[in-house]
Amino acid sequence: MYRAQVIVVKLGTSVLTGGTDKLDKAHMVELVRQCCELKKQGHRVVMVSSGAVAAGREQLIKPCGRSVIDKQMLAAIGQGQLIHIWQSLFALYGVSVGQMLLTRADLEDRDRYLNARDTLTALLNHDVVPIINENDAVATSEIKVGDNDNLSALVAILANADKLLLLTDQEGLFTSDPRSNENAQLIDEVSHIDDELRLLAGGSGTNLGTGGMATKLQAADIARRSGVEVVIAKGSGQNVILSCMTEQLPGTRFFKLTAPKDGRKKWLLAGPKSSGQIVIDNGATLAIQHQGASLLAKGVRVAKGAFNRGELVDLVDLNSQLVARGIVRFNHQEIEQIKGCHSKEIISVLGFDCGSAIIHRDDLVLF
Ligand code: GLU
Repeated sequence: MYRAQVIVVKLGTSVLTGGTDKLDKAHMVELVRQCCELKKQGHRVVMVSSGAVAAGREQLIKPCGRSVIDKQMLAAIGQGQLIHIWQSLFALYGVSVGQMLLTRADLEDRDRYLNARDTLTALLNHDVVPIINENDAVATSEIKVGDNDNLSALVAILANADKLLLLTDQEGLFTSDPRSNENAQLIDEVSHIDDELRLLAGGSGTNLGTGGMATKLQAADIARRSGVEVVIAKGSGQNVILSCMTEQLPGTRFFKLTAPKDGRKKWLLAGPKSSGQIVIDNGATLAIQHQGASLLAKGVRVAKGAFNRGELVDLVDLNSQLVARGIVRFNHQEIEQIKGCHSKEIISVLGFDCGSAIIHRDDLVLF
């Protein structure tokens, strides 16, 4: 049955430049045509566009290096040009665009996250195509998402998207690096992301962009946990954006997982970085994974890092595998004191009671 969808299209620098050192406007207009075709079909389109640094480099008369500050300067020069090009190309189809420049800090803070979500929703409700990039000029390493692959996954969560298309210079994820191994085979579908696959995805692919297959895999993992289907495909492929909507996908498709319905839990997947780690025993791991349980003191083995009540921490099992992430109700010193205790004993150990759960189920998302 036909259903209008929200589609996030992520375009890497390698797609926008075709591997050259200049933006390939002829190809950009072709991508715009396909996005506008999707809109005509009733879908909503969000674009996450790299290319500011490349556009800046194109305009700079005196060449500069590749340091962080050089790139920030280039992004400041190029972002205006980039959005101007998108604006004029979408205008050919009578479609307006709106620019949003985000950093991780905007997504970590719940209020700013909600503001960004409201703006994005308002743009979509008004038939505008939001065009999103990292706010490179102001972002230091701590507040940077760092690459537009991960940014696009966070945007997909913000936009409550159905699909995320990660368009790149390769056809998808291969069984080994197709640039060095001619027997490499395209992986059509992925239902489970494990360490073997992460190893396969390896390091960065292109000189101009930031991401590679490794960051695409991270992005796919984040997005699919939030109920978003992800496709990695070759951005120069014919009708690639339109074909991603069909069953005959041109690249690697990642099946979506069942997403939390609660908006706050979705924010936990998209937003804050964790401030520490709690190692939990096998009983707690099973109870959290399969019985919808909260984390109780009894299941805690050790609390690592200095975190306060109300902060986000990772829960890892005895093999250091990430199990869940959630907001703690005790700080790390308190948890060290009550670990292994029965919930009833907490009050006598600490002298106060914050409820029996270290992390309540409502404040927890599974990995
Ligand atoms: N924000 C960067 C740019 O616009 C790109 C980062 C990335 O491609 O991951 O050039």
